[in-house]
Amino acid sequence: MSKTEEAQVKKRVTVTRQRGGQWFIFEDVPAWVCPHCGHRYFDADVLEAMENRMKSTPADARPVTAWAISLSEKAS
Ligand SMILES: [Zn+2]
Repeated sequence: MSKTEEAQVKKRVTVTRQRGGQWFIFEDVPAWVCPHCGHRYFDADVLEAMENRMKSTPADARPVTAWAISLSEKAS
């Protein structure tokens, strides 16, 4: 749904991204969230900031442990 047609609600969300096999988890990301479908939109400067932070290992990041689980048996 388009941003102009709906009342977007500004929230802080968690965003996961992957670059070169490395996962990045961004917290407290300002986003416009559609109250109907939950789709999240990000301002251009926010997207750019995340892209920039994925170019190298962030010095102020804390490492986390994650479980990677394949559901390949459900895909057939
Ligand atoms: Zn929507």
